[in-house]
Amino acid sequence: MNPPKLDHIGIAVRSLDAARVYEALGMRIDHVETVASQGVKTAFLSAGDANLELLEPTGPDSTVAKFIEKRGEGIHHICLRVDDIEAHLAKLKAEGFRLINEAPVPGAHGCRVAFLHPAAGNGVLIELSEKREE
Ligand code: ZN
Repeated sequence: MNPPKLDHIGIAVRSLDAARVYEALGMRIDHVETVASQGVKTAFLSAGDANLELLEPTGPDSTVAKFIEKRGEGIHHICLRVDDIEAHLAKLKAEGFRLINEAPVPGAHGCRVAFLHPAAGNGVLIELSEKREE
């Protein structure tokens, strides 16, 4: 297992119009995708080696809608890119860390993703993402 790399920071927003401040900084949206399994519409803005992922809920039952209702808009998760998601999940589980997804689920960009429980990340929701071979 290679060490993970920071892939993106996820930001919960009521509307993807929130991209305006980043566009004013000269960044641009280079990918928009609805991820049905997560109940979100996502917009990715490249920030050098990593990205920002804006997350707009697709409906009131979306976990991101519930997050905004409870805590307001803001940083929602960090995502670490790994090359063997199953091996990392097995190791974390064996070491007693709480997981939301014990097996990978489909994410944006055709990636396989899994979330750790925020309790495992000292209040930070950590997403692991494995890129599919292209
Ligand atoms: Zn993400």
